[in-house]
Amino acid sequence: MPATLQTTSPPLFPVFTDLRGRRVLVVGGGSVAQRKCEALLEAGALVVIGAPELVTTLAQWVQQGRIVHLAGEFAPTWLDDVWLTIAATDDPDTNHAVVAAADTRRIWANAVDDADASRFHMPARITRGPLQVAISSGGGAPMLARLVREQLETQFDESFGVLAELLTRHRQRIRTRWPELGARRRGFARLLAGPLQALLRKRQHIAAEHAFDQALRADDVLATQGSVALVGAGPGDPGLLTLRGLRVLNEADVILHDRLVSDEVLALARRDAERISVGKLVGEGGTSQSQINALLIEHAKAGKRVVRLKGGDAFVFGRGGEELEALQAAGIVFEVVPGITAALACAAYAGIPLTHREHAQSLQLVTAHGQASLDRLDWASLATGNQTLAFYMGVSGLERIRDQLVAHGRVPSTPFAIIENGSRPEQRVIAGKLSALPELARSHKVCAPALLIVGEVAVLATRLHWFGSEALTTAGAGCDGTPAMAHIGDIAQAA
Ligand code: SAH
Repeated sequence: MPATLQTTSPPLFPVFTDLRGRRVLVVGGGSVAQRKCEALLEAGALVVIGAPELVTTLAQWVQQGRIVHLAGEFAPTWLDDVWLTIAATDDPDTNHAVVAAADTRRIWANAVDDADASRFHMPARITRGPLQVAISSGGGAPMLARLVREQLETQFDESFGVLAELLTRHRQRIRTRWPELGARRRGFARLLAGPLQALLRKRQHIAAEHAFDQALRADDVLATQGSVALVGAGPGDPGLLTLRGLRVLNEADVILHDRLVSDEVLALARRDAERISVGKLVGEGGTSQSQINALLIEHAKAGKRVVRLKGGDAFVFGRGGEELEALQAAGIVFEVVPGITAALACAAYAGIPLTHREHAQSLQLVTAHGQASLDRLDWASLATGNQTLAFYMGVSGLERIRDQLVAHGRVPSTPFAIIENGSRPEQRVIAGKLSALPELARSHKVCAPALLIVGEVAVLATRLHWFGSEALTTAGAGCDGTPAMAHIGDIAQAA
């Protein structure tokens, strides 16, 4: 029994054991022992627990006949007929005695929180159905193993478990179809590159079975179809990408992204994924929508897993619907992963609650892109009080937005806030009164991407600031207007 801590880890040999119907002894009656019992019961072991006393749950399990209790202090005879043992008491001497007794009988023993005394280690693990990933640091750095586990948790969603079950169910068919190992490996790669997992993720199990059958029948590589995931990348801060977005990015072979997608988000994708920028700069042509649709279809038909990555959310001023229609017409399997749209992100990062019990009972998301779209807006409805307006793509139309809102009755002292580069390190917030909107914005040379929020709530940007620099409320250099700080008014008190 080692008295001092080892400074090097033993070269451990990992195994997964089948404990069904096999006797396993857990020594200890506390909550640690309970957790070990639970894991062992899940694996189908015959659990025997040895301890003078048991915590309530363990006592209940004994009563229910789920586990067997050996009452009293540890005795080596407890190890009779046992395959494996875990010493989980809070007394190191008892734990060591269990390990020593197990050693003489050549029974594998673990002493909890005692890597040096343990003959086998319990790994950190993630479980998805029959699929298990076990992580070990050799006992030397369990916290690191736990950290790795947390990272893996985010990368493998529950569809991996369903996939593992499906493959287990069809194991014989797969072996018959590709009897030779090399062919099986290639077939498998093709199978997994196809739409199978995307379908499982969408809980479309029957379609997934069909896709599996199809892949099994297909003769050549091109017969296996790819899929497209339409993913909202959020406003820029990579922390605002969803977990599901991150997962599909990790699996992507090809990524078609917009100019609005930040480099930080793109950096999260698999290194060897092909990245295609289809960003459109206003007035600079760029890739047309029909070219984008054609690219998506072309790559998916070549069997690739394609991610169409868009700033914010793909269904909010993102033309996501048009792309899906084109994919559907081409018979390509797709899925949609929502993103945090600019209005939500900018409001949050500027400290502006979009609704307010007294001052804003509704929220309108408005596109202000170009003269034509400004002309089509229902200004009378937008000018109604008691609501918040979030204008997308409005940088060039600020004068007109102010004039129309005021002309239709919105009070000129209504607060506004412009959030430029929301959620990004270079975020700027400019806040003032509607009457001074275009002048104040011009004096600060506001650039795209910027979102305009109009409504009483906008004044809270000066009160609830928490991210980046404080809101700019006075004219910047080169300004032709007067300082335009909004009157805080009663909303600040209400907040
Ligand atoms: N689908 C996107 C919107 C695309 S339209 C979404 O859901 O957010 C592009 C407009 O979104 C920009 O002109 C700007 O008004 C707004 N926008 C996007 N990202 C932004 C950001 N980080 N900061 C401020 N505005 C942003």
